Amino acid sequence: MKINYDVIIIGAGAAGMTAAIYIKRANLTVCMIERSAPGGQINQTAHIENYPGFDKIDGPSLSMKMFTQTQNLGIEYKYGDVLEISNKGDIKLVKTDKEELTAKAVIICTGRKSRSLKLENENKFIGRGISWCAICDGPLYKEKEVCIVGGGNSACEEALYLSDIASKVTIIHRRDAFRADPAIRDKVLNSSKIEKIWDSNVTKLNDKDEVLESIEVTNNKTNETQTVFCKGLFIYIGSDPVTKMVENYNITDKNGYILVDENNRTKENKLYAAGDVVKKELYQISTAVGEGSKAAMSAVMDIIE
Ligand code: NAP
Repeated sequence: MKINYDVIIIGAGAAGMTAAIYIKRANLTVCMIERSAPGGQINQTAHIENYPGFDKIDGPSLSMKMFTQTQNLGIEYKYGDVLEISNKGDIKLVKTDKEELTAKAVIICTGRKSRSLKLENENKFIGRGISWCAICDGPLYKEKEVCIVGGGNSACEEALYLSDIASKVTIIHRRDAFRADPAIRDKVLNSSKIEKIWDSNVTKLNDKDEVLESIEVTNNKTNETQTVFCKGLFIYIGSDPVTKMVENYNITDKNGYILVDENNRTKENKLYAAGDVVKKELYQISTAVGEGSKAAMSAVMDIIE
């Protein structure tokens, strides 16, 4: 059977691009497959201030620097949605929506997908007021009122970003304290441009001419509901790992995160994982990069052993 590559990497975010650089520099053949733009979730981050080497950089610029490095090394990059990974003897078969490819080893770096609010008519407002990406869609709301849902690092960082664009930013959180890191949390708490609505959930979306006009926000302690006018609603309530393509391997925990050892090997031979798709404590660009390099070197050692 023809083997297309030594290693196929699924996902070209920080973990995947790092893994590709290490594999290529070890003189093995490698291909990254990505269903969206290279960079993954980094592309949705307005300001990055905790990645060494850059005092402050926006997500798309950091993604592009990483991607340019992979392309300068001649690393192959394919656009495609990976549907399934399976074994054919010792070989891994990677089935995408376009083709079937084979490799000696596969590294999964598929990251996570943003959660939705699961409101009845939420999908209708995609592109008409609802967004999961402040850096992509924020400029559409210049001098308009916007709301953000969530209380983590993403919600707080993007609230700060939007407060420089929108006429008013309101952050709605289901508890009375943000879980974001203190440095980010305090900036939001101290910002007079960001209104906070605590202990509350978005319970209804209202439109005018098919475009978002206002939302209904219900206090989960008093059950009181208020209408908040906003043209944009940015949802940052966490995310779930993208692991459907490895369902057949039984390598995930009950929440779908891939379980790996300290060198990013899964329990399946020549199958590795790195980045946000992995079960771990700290989800950062810096940890994704470290895991990408470890997964790559594990694959290199297992292939050439
Ligand atoms: P997250 O930390 O999981 O926060 C999700 C937030 O949404 C929480 O405040 C949660 O409330 C709330 N939430 C969850 N489900 C909800 C629902 N159904 N309705 C309303 N609210 C809901 O997610 P994240 O902010 O996307 O961050 C993901 C990971 O990436 C984290 O580990 C984070 O530290 C990391 N990250 C780091 C940086 C950075 O270091 N600069 C930037 C971005 C992300 P509760 O608090 O009540 O649970």
